[in-house]
Amino acid sequence: MEVIAGVKQMQERSQQLRAQRETIAFVPTMGYLHEGHLSLMREGRKRADALIISIFVNPTQFGPGEDYERYPRDMKRDLQLAQGVGVDIVFTPSVQEMYPQGFQTYVEVEKVTKNLCGISRPHHFRGVTTVVTKLFNIVKPHLALFGQKDYQQLVTIKRMVEDLNMDIEIIGLPTVREPDGLAMSSRNAYLSPEERRAALSLYRSLCKGEELFRQGTKDAKAILREIRKIIKAQKLAQIDYAKICDPHTLEDIDEIEGEALIALAVKIGETRLIDNVILREG
Ligand code: AMP
Repeated sequence: MEVIAGVKQMQERSQQLRAQRETIAFVPTMGYLHEGHLSLMREGRKRADALIISIFVNPTQFGPGEDYERYPRDMKRDLQLAQGVGVDIVFTPSVQEMYPQGFQTYVEVEKVTKNLCGISRPHHFRGVTTVVTKLFNIVKPHLALFGQKDYQQLVTIKRMVEDLNMDIEIIGLPTVREPDGLAMSSRNAYLSPEERRAALSLYRSLCKGEELFRQGTKDAKAILREIRKIIKAQKLAQIDYAKICDPHTLEDIDEIEGEALIALAVKIGETRLIDNVILREG
């Protein structure tokens, strides 16, 4: 496995792979890898000749007062895990090289970034789309894999790729969960044992929402009432949002017809967690 830190070196290496007619699968990450990340890598391994991942904690997607400085990092362990799933190249750029003096260009997707996480994190998706565009230009992948755990991010990236004619296939893969249902996240490392127990209320409430929908409840407010009740029963939990949206436009809906997204963001102590589920007729 190769580890490349330089932008120019990475571009040259990808150019070389393309010249050898090798297809490139790419998984961008912020590191502190877990099974969710590894599931994306295993799928990328199957779908392309070369598998490249990036590990970069991207400062432009964190707001003031968020957890950029204390975001968990463990490069040594990450490299071992990447090697274990057959990654060919790990791209590990520095902040200096990604955002040198004078940097002033951003990519912004308009409508789908406004609701949900866009409300409390107004500059978050601009940071995500900008860094992903830069990474695509550096790694030059044929396909890139993202998790449905960050559902709004996946919709935003798909929109960006289509709108800007980026010649890259975007693949979304299901959320990987702990045995008890908690969605895997690097931020789970922040949770105390008591918080870890309270965090399970996200998944439990989503299951309740699914159950109500299956039993015939189509009224979004009625479902959200039950979801909020389950989360509010945990004194360590504070809801940022609990919403039911159109899974394509991400606009709020009142009455579920066909498909819908239930999306949650909840603070457990100081840790903000997100989770979601898609409801489908039948
Ligand atoms: P991150 O390192 O948190 O930026 O995540 C990197 C990629 O892994 C993103 O595409 C995430 O959606 C995906 N990911 C994170 N957690 C999970 C999970 N539990 N299941 C599936 N994919 C995930």
